[in-house]
Amino acid sequence: MCGIVGYIGTKPASTLLIEGLKRLEYRGYDSAGVCVCRAGELTISKDIGRVMQVEQQILADDRFATATVGIAHTRWATHGEPSKANAHPHFDGEGRIALVHNGIIENYATLKQYLLGKGHTFLSETDTEVLVHLVSEIYHDGAKNLESAVQAALGEVTGTYGIAVMCADEPDKIVAARKGSPLIVGVGTDEYLVASDASAIIAHTSNVIYLNDNEMAVFTRDGMRTLTIDNVPVTKEVQQIEWTLEEIALGGYEHFMLKEICEQPEAIRNCLRGRVDLRDNRIQLGGLESVGRELVKTRKIVLSACGTAWHAGLVGEYLFEDLARIPTEVEYASEFRYRNPIIEDGTVFLALSQSGETADTLAALREAKEKGALVLGIVNAVGSTIARETDAGVYIHAGPEIGVASTKAFTCQLVVETMIALALGRRRFMSQSTMSRYLIALAEIPDKIEAILELSDTVRQVVGEYIDYDNWLFLGRGYNYPIALEGALKLKEISYIHAEGLPAAEMKHGPIALIHEGMPVVFVAPRCGTYDKIISNIEEVRARKGRVLAVATEGDERIRQYADHVFYVPDTLAPLQPLLTVVPLQLLAYHAAVARGCNVDKPRNLAKSVTVE
Ligand code: GLU
Repeated sequence: MCGIVGYIGTKPASTLLIEGLKRLEYRGYDSAGVCVCRAGELTISKDIGRVMQVEQQILADDRFATATVGIAHTRWATHGEPSKANAHPHFDGEGRIALVHNGIIENYATLKQYLLGKGHTFLSETDTEVLVHLVSEIYHDGAKNLESAVQAALGEVTGTYGIAVMCADEPDKIVAARKGSPLIVGVGTDEYLVASDASAIIAHTSNVIYLNDNEMAVFTRDGMRTLTIDNVPVTKEVQQIEWTLEEIALGGYEHFMLKEICEQPEAIRNCLRGRVDLRDNRIQLGGLESVGRELVKTRKIVLSACGTAWHAGLVGEYLFEDLARIPTEVEYASEFRYRNPIIEDGTVFLALSQSGETADTLAALREAKEKGALVLGIVNAVGSTIARETDAGVYIHAGPEIGVASTKAFTCQLVVETMIALALGRRRFMSQSTMSRYLIALAEIPDKIEAILELSDTVRQVVGEYIDYDNWLFLGRGYNYPIALEGALKLKEISYIHAEGLPAAEMKHGPIALIHEGMPVVFVAPRCGTYDKIISNIEEVRARKGRVLAVATEGDERIRQYADHVFYVPDTLAPLQPLLTVVPLQLLAYHAAVARGCNVDKPRNLAKSVTVE
């Protein structure tokens, strides 16, 4: 999920590799490493922390100075915490093959068992190290060369990867391959670069080849070959990059927030990867296996978080009560920590945090732990403090989130909560057929979000009409009540427009006094059990001349009579609706902020990771 750079040519490889890694730093990473090949030997330097630290180690080591071929990596951990041992490149057992990898090897546990049986030993907790050992096993079992060993190994792998591999016995060669994780080749004079993102290449050449999924490239001093992973040669066209470095970092998007909104289908696919098994109709959450027995006996769940993650927690309350029939409470971490909370036997405390470093959430989890709760975490950053201090947990695998306003981390938090709720529900009372309906619906979510993203332009135009309105209301019911809160929070965070979110029925108990023709009211109103009630709420707003924008289910023509604008989302099961209904609201906040000229990715007064009280 982070960065790869490879180089073969006539210049000192380590200088180019370090420079390339620095250009990838904007993506966020937790460790970095470089491996070069010189005189038939592989030399490696890797560490946690900044690329600069690896650079200093390399400068102090002469073996790096003259090598002209090498591979490098910045890691965003998915398997195993950030540590020197888990940093890439990874070696095979003999230190003769080195590999860097972006992505997730889904079946690494099975492959690892097989390799342990063959006598391999492992130095890291990563899925990646398993792959390099597999390549090595096949290489020494009679593969003709490195590329055929890589092909055969990839044939055994399920998951996603962008990889670059070197072998000391074939010193002037790099093999690169991809599936589900980008790789770009830079074609220079007497040199090739391969990288996960063009920003690591652009300073050297603007001639590039984009590898597609299931394609690989073999670079030697005599040239390069492109072929499929099944060994069919492919001819690739050399294209010109015409983007500036900044545009490349943003992948063509104007802001990281928009990029991350659009990455949601992919982030959710990564989050589901290896966990939802449609064939066996089950959910497998490796991170919770060690506490499986205790979890089935859960009598109460306390979800705790701050900000957007708190809204994810609120959806979680509905999910756990509805799908797993477990009494659930949601707590602001900042309140919970000082309230001397009552923790009874059988209480599971679940902390939600993108960064895993949120100070209040961490303090709340310590308080719950002190009082005897089983503490679990749902976090994005592997090896973060919350991940380390919890008894068990599930990573959301959303990839680095750079925009301060959380988007893809939010939807992935919802996905993880749904998976936990379903897994618990199934072990308690849920029938096979209900489980199957949910799993199928969950697997369809990424494609459905892709369809919603097509609305971006429409949302922009509609928002344009309302840009001078300074007060907004967001209303929803049931599963979509937390989404109303999230829609309001997104808008205020980045556009500085005042917005309130409420359960729709609460409006008549006070906030209705605010409604007038200058007040846009956003109803999150997909088809669900309370649809008719929400239509009545819309009528109450109309009667007071409020402007109505609605998020509704595709095919719902009725709502058009009441709303000034409707954003349609595909139908899904009610507990999964928040995953869809939040997307138009993220786009709404984004376009409002852009139209108002705000700094979308770095809103005033806000920090990405709130590590202070
Ligand atoms: N899954 C690999 C790991 O945890 C690769 C992570 C990445 O893409 O940076 O080491």
